[in-house]
Amino acid sequence: MSALAAEVARVGEVGEVVVDLEISRAWLVDPSSGREGPGELVVTDGVIDAVNWLSGDEADGVDDRGIIVAPGFVDLHAHFREPGDEDAETIASGLAAAAHGGFTTVCLMPNTTPALGEPSVLGRVRAAAAASGSPVEVMAYGAVSAGRAGETLAALGELADAGVVGFSDDGLPVRSATLLRSALAYAGMLGLPVVDHPEDASQTDGAEANEGLVATVLGLRGWPSSAEASAVARDLAILADVRADVPGARLHLTHLSTAPALELVRAAKAAGLPVTCDVTPHHLALTDAWLAGWRRFAWDEPWRPGATVEASLYETSVRVNPPLRSVADAAACRAALEDGTADAIATDHAPHTSVAKDVEFGLASNGISGIETALGLLLAAVDAGELSLGRALAALTIGPSRVLGFRPPTVPRGLVEGAPADLVVFDRSDSWTVTAESLASKGKNSPLVGRALPGRVLLTVAGGRLAYNAS
Ligand SMILES: [Zn+2]
Repeated sequence: MSALAAEVARVGEVGEVVVDLEISRAWLVDPSSGREGPGELVVTDGVIDAVNWLSGDEADGVDDRGIIVAPGFVDLHAHFREPGDEDAETIASGLAAAAHGGFTTVCLMPNTTPALGEPSVLGRVRAAAAASGSPVEVMAYGAVSAGRAGETLAALGELADAGVVGFSDDGLPVRSATLLRSALAYAGMLGLPVVDHPEDASQTDGAEANEGLVATVLGLRGWPSSAEASAVARDLAILADVRADVPGARLHLTHLSTAPALELVRAAKAAGLPVTCDVTPHHLALTDAWLAGWRRFAWDEPWRPGATVEASLYETSVRVNPPLRSVADAAACRAALEDGTADAIATDHAPHTSVAKDVEFGLASNGISGIETALGLLLAAVDAGELSLGRALAALTIGPSRVLGFRPPTVPRGLVEGAPADLVVFDRSDSWTVTAESLASKGKNSPLVGRALPGRVLLTVAGGRLAYNAS
């Protein structure tokens, strides 16, 4: 057993304070200071006691391809299904999955049943999180519209007082421009962002797959790129208006998946608009060719009609909203991360029961159970030279913290002496095979089941307490 494995094995039980932990000769990445390199880290009584950066002979043989220590990841977008659909996921199973994925903070979407449109539902979510014993921090968005019905504003002020971190009707876009205008103004006065799922539903009625060659060959109804770009353009125009009256108005666009939409955000940022956005691991690593049974990453050999395929066609595990896009769109997602147009990586973790997925493609629920495979997909992109490790880790840590506005308790954590230990340790040189059993999530709806992914999480520590231990 290696020294690190022995250290991991004796660190304690999930939920317990990490009393003493010493990680020697690892590659430390601290996006908050922009520093990375060989080092050692000591945790005592849940607090980072020492961070020693190594140099010269001491650093020999330590590089960024082995054991990596980074601050705990923050997920801006996850669906844990409780209350209402506990067969698909509970707060407890979702938190276990988050910790397995290296996440120490999750922001839950309010499309539960009932929707998180009033403080009492937030109370239920918090009670379930406390009862789970997981130290992973749970945050939640409140609904934009009452009952997520898209007609009148939810009680944004009451929800803000209760502690929501923003407002979203995700699962659905805010269809009414008038409602979005009011929401941006009111949320802006409360100091919170509106998180929109940008989709012009008039273009996606009955849509099944990204509009393009794959959809045509498979006979699936097209889901045009313009449905996203036109929604983003509308949102940005409204934001520009509202901001003139409410300087605090902030818009966050989640799971952008197309080159034109990302280009609009790039231009809006250059013009000084207070907009942020995220992209998902699946949109940057997979393409619509996966619907055709192709199982290559977006940067590998492209699919051609008639290609010998590696999986069955129309697998519902790849049905997701927005849909998996083209090779060029996936490249645009990675480029947006690299140049800062995309502020964060969000998983859009969307667990479903087999009942919701074991149906005809067009009838299957949208979503991928993705919080445990996010790091692996990102490292696959890094290994292929398609993404830098530093940007990937920044977009999992300080990027999302900034979107949340740095407000306590989301102050950006770092590998800093005196800070609560909130970190993930993973072995980039090791891989793991995704199986239904290996996923802590109740949602086994992942197109990556059966596949080996790089980067095994060894240890996740959240707020000084053990959240996940691979041993
Ligand atoms: Zn969404």
